[in-house]
Amino acid sequence: MAESDNSEDSLIHQTLIRNLTEVRERIQAACERSDRDSANIQLVAVTKYAEWSWVQQLAVLHDQFGENRPQQLVERRQKLPDIHWHLIGQLQRNKVRSVLPSCGLIHSVENLKLYHKLADVGKELGIRPQILLQVNISGEGSKSGFQASEIAAEWQTLVARSSDIDVRGFMTMAPASQNPDEARATFRGLCELRNSIVGEEAAMPETWSLADLSMGMSGDFETAIEEGATIIRVGSALFQGLQRPSEAS
Ligand SMILES: *Cc1c(COP(=O)(O)O)cnc(C)c1O
Repeated sequence: MAESDNSEDSLIHQTLIRNLTEVRERIQAACERSDRDSANIQLVAVTKYAEWSWVQQLAVLHDQFGENRPQQLVERRQKLPDIHWHLIGQLQRNKVRSVLPSCGLIHSVENLKLYHKLADVGKELGIRPQILLQVNISGEGSKSGFQASEIAAEWQTLVARSSDIDVRGFMTMAPASQNPDEARATFRGLCELRNSIVGEEAAMPETWSLADLSMGMSGDFETAIEEGATIIRVGSALFQGLQRPSEAS
């Protein structure tokens, strides 16, 4: 048994190295096209659909992982505490207390109530939450997040909590469409929103940089990089070609 486990592990390892190398090459090419430095792009490996054996193996090669379910993030962090775990999915207010200590960056802060809850609980626990504000740039009804106009209208409300919470930037998702121009317009819209806020110096707390833009997934991360992404969230491109145990013959 031990022998076949080993060869299976080594196959997973080889596939992950190949996929990671390919994703890094695509990042590099997008950076060259847009005159950017790839050192300024952080790759978050989205492990939400990954088998545990894949996650363990990837942890040898990479240390920034993203989960969309808070419970799974907490469980996996207990097993791999040295990984920096990003929360990229919906967070209910009643889960904040149990999840906050396990989260590195929370990408998915989608409304004011959650924002205030994170600031309150963080203050209580002595943790300054690191967050991104999720914005629904495309305006699709099915997408969660702040409306861009709401960010502008509520900016002073957000800033009022700046001693309790660190807003590191913004996150968005492109519409599910085959048309790359729609994704580009969404990514550009998020970058413009950030630039317009940073441009009004009076509106910026000293402790916030708003430097980060989390945008782009397996299908559209190159476009996102061309439009200013600093964090990309990539799942399926990293795990393609791996066979789930249930599918094994
Ligand atoms: C699943 C997910 C991703 C990764 O998607 P892939 O297409 O597998 O790369 C990125 N961001 C969020 C918010 C997700 O839920």
